[in-house]
Amino acid sequence: MNPHALRIGHGYDLHRLEPPPPNGHGRPFVLAGVRFDHPVGPVGHSDGDAVYHAIVDALMGALGLPDIGQFFPDNDPKWDGQDSEVFLEAARARVAEAGYAVVNLDMTVICERPKLSPRKTEMMANIARVLGIELGQVNLKGKTHEKVDAVGEGRAIEVHVVALLARE
Ligand code: MG
Repeated sequence: MNPHALRIGHGYDLHRLEPPPPNGHGRPFVLAGVRFDHPVGPVGHSDGDAVYHAIVDALMGALGLPDIGQFFPDNDPKWDGQDSEVFLEAARARVAEAGYAVVNLDMTVICERPKLSPRKTEMMANIARVLGIELGQVNLKGKTHEKVDAVGEGRAIEVHVVALLARE
């Protein structure tokens, strides 16, 4: 089998969660482009969308490319508060340029709150739309961290993504 016919990539992201200014540096809580009403939000240079960031890293990883921070440096004022959808669009373009298509994405979002289940379909639909794939190619699972450590105490959110690409 051609070793380049299929490529797998893994992405991971974590963002600290804080109240909005003046009590912290949290931005509005956005995950996969879906805005949640929540008292704390991600600290980050862009909008802090940990799901989109981890997907970008999974896609870049599958292509053997550097991580999101090298393409979109967090010291570049251009990306301050940036809607992370543009990073995902850029990753989609890289995948296409390299001659690949996304087979499927599987992800796990770990946070204590908010409850993701009521908005899961919306999140997966956003991902499918931005990547130009079917909803059935996207899977998202929500988990808690059983109240332990920073994630379990609601001070951070963590995302893991695995992406499979196939040569077109
Ligand atoms: Mg990030």
